[in-house]
Amino acid sequence: MRSRLRAEFGEAAYRSWLKPASFEFSGEDTIRILAPTRFMRDWIETQYGDRLLRLWSEENPKIVRLEIVHDGAAPERAATVPVVVSAPASDGAHNDIGAPLDPRFRFDNFVVGKPNELAFAAARRVAEAESVPFNPLFLYGGVGLGKTHLMHAIASHIRKTTPERLVIYLSAEKFMYQFIRAMRFKDTMAFKDQFRSVDVLMIDDVQFFSGKDNTQEEFFHTFNALVDHNRQVIISADKSPNDLEGMEDRMKSRLGWGLVADIHPTIYELRLGILQSKAEQMHFDIPPKVLEFLAHRITSNVRELEGALNRLVAYAKLVGRPIALDNTQEVLQDILRANDRKVTIEEIQKRVAEHYNIRLGEMFSARRSRAIARPRQVAMYLSKQLTERSLPEIGRKFGGRDHTTVMHAVRKIDELCALDSSFSEDVELLRRMLEG
Ligand code: ADP
Ligand code: MG
Repeated sequence: MRSRLRAEFGEAAYRSWLKPASFEFSGEDTIRILAPTRFMRDWIETQYGDRLLRLWSEENPKIVRLEIVHDGAAPERAATVPVVVSAPASDGAHNDIGAPLDPRFRFDNFVVGKPNELAFAAARRVAEAESVPFNPLFLYGGVGLGKTHLMHAIASHIRKTTPERLVIYLSAEKFMYQFIRAMRFKDTMAFKDQFRSVDVLMIDDVQFFSGKDNTQEEFFHTFNALVDHNRQVIISADKSPNDLEGMEDRMKSRLGWGLVADIHPTIYELRLGILQSKAEQMHFDIPPKVLEFLAHRITSNVRELEGALNRLVAYAKLVGRPIALDNTQEVLQDILRANDRKVTIEEIQKRVAEHYNIRLGEMFSARRSRAIARPRQVAMYLSKQLTERSLPEIGRKFGGRDHTTVMHAVRKIDELCALDSSFSEDVELLRRMLEG
């Protein structure tokens, strides 16, 4: 039987988990497995329980039950309740050390745009590759931009296409919790073994390890052991490896060895795409104008965008009225206010001067040559669009100009944008930079 187990589970898993255990009959229909620690008992049960039972009943059809007990040396722990495997175990086999996957986070409903195309491509590559294309894959970006979504999508994809590979996904927080628990139960060996026997280890939000030296140390060793054995490691964080504070330098450097892919803040097109896709999934008719309005105004992150949409739909269902611009503004007042652009005229002047390569002082100067006057007009135009300032206020900030000058600038730029698409793209680019 031992050789069969070795063949079935592979040398590494056999040696780590099954070899140290002993097996005995317990009555006619039950096999009892004695695991040296409680931790190993749980692990054998969740990872191998149903396969073990199947193997045994193939050998001996009388066997219908598996009893897994902890056979620890400590007398107070000797009487642990046995874990019994008798029914086919559910899909949650990895849940003991990993975290469950959210079935809503898939590749097919992840909307791709400029800000996330690299991260998306890298995630797909890792999910579809048979070998390890880069190690680790390090995904980073601000909150609510889709890191966890991509991580779950990778894990689900691998589990579906190559179920024999053991994929563990968990948050850095949960990793720490498990580590601390293992230390408390003096089970760190088992802890190490269980993480080192996986094929794909995914840890979300590793910035959580900042300043937590012991956990970081353990993670570092786990990480190295896996990478050395050519197992795929996938990490996410809110910052690039180098910018992670409270991380040891050797850790930062190691994290950056593979492919580092960042998710940038969203841009208008992506936000609109996401809204359209989500509205469609919700089977709810929302006028395009409203979606465009939301994409313009809610710029913080995708989670907020989703929240706004959910609230709108809930409202519409509740009051039974169709969604339009006016009730959108009313229902989402607080979210919209929080997302109001807080760009200042000073920032606009600085950005625009840089962009056209003129001195900042020219924004206030009296010079009228076109090379200077045009950028100045663009800055006035953007000030009108992106701030709440009135025309006279804007005029004052541009070297004490009259409000009619500002009005003229706004009209002029509008005209030029309509005539010249490359000019209009340029202005749009500036606007986005300022909004972002
Ligand atoms: P993060 O982990 O980076 O904080 P999440 O992955 O939790 O962000 O994303 C927040 C929410 O936004 C999730 O509901 C996720 O499905 C959604 N989301 C983020 N980016 C996209 C995208 N590109 N397409 C579709 N949904 C997205
Ligand atoms: Mg996340």
